[in-house]
Amino acid sequence: MRQNNRTIYRFADNMHIKTCPILLLNGKLSQNLKKSNFLFQLKFQNLCEKMIQTVCIDISGLDMNRNPIGIAKCHYLNLNLKRDDACIRETPLFLPELQIQTAAIRIHKVVFSDYSVWKDHKNPVEQFPILKPLTSVLPEQHLREQYYRACSSLSDTSHNAYALHEFFDFWTCTCGSINWNNEKECHTCGKPKKWIQMNLEKKNLQKCYDAYLYEKQESP
Ligand SMILES: [Zn+2]
Repeated sequence: MRQNNRTIYRFADNMHIKTCPILLLNGKLSQNLKKSNFLFQLKFQNLCEKMIQTVCIDISGLDMNRNPIGIAKCHYLNLNLKRDDACIRETPLFLPELQIQTAAIRIHKVVFSDYSVWKDHKNPVEQFPILKPLTSVLPEQHLREQYYRACSSLSDTSHNAYALHEFFDFWTCTCGSINWNNEKECHTCGKPKKWIQMNLEKKNLQKCYDAYLYEKQESP
């Protein structure tokens, strides 16, 4: 029964291991008070073009001094996880019945559907930033509307509600998709990163907006 579960530890949201094909969206370790066993819940997303088949994760239970008390291994099999898709997995764990205060995750292997493998080499962990709304970089409504007009000239029907953001090995498109730095165009909407940068430039937007107004006034 869910009400018999006590959450022991919530992992930070949107954690990523450098070069890893998955993003850890959120997770928690809880303890079933009646059965005295543990339950590990994890939500993760595929960031890669290739379909993910298997993810192998170690969960360590840590005491109050962050010393590992026990390690459980999770193997998520037959995932068929396409790019951008996320899944939630709940796994019962057998950890020693001691004073587990917190926990740590280590992704050590990801297997793709073509049988190629990503392995962790103790790469640094980084926290993905939250998507910023487009209004935070473009508060002027007439300039935002000018950007939307530029997007529709590319036949782009995305919502374009976000700011372009570059961080670590990634950039997020105005449509909200996460792209790797070596991708010149957004894998979802197809807009080139350079085009977005140019078209979000305020001076350029204002110039285009003035031209738009002029054209509008001139047309009968
Ligand atoms: Zn996009």
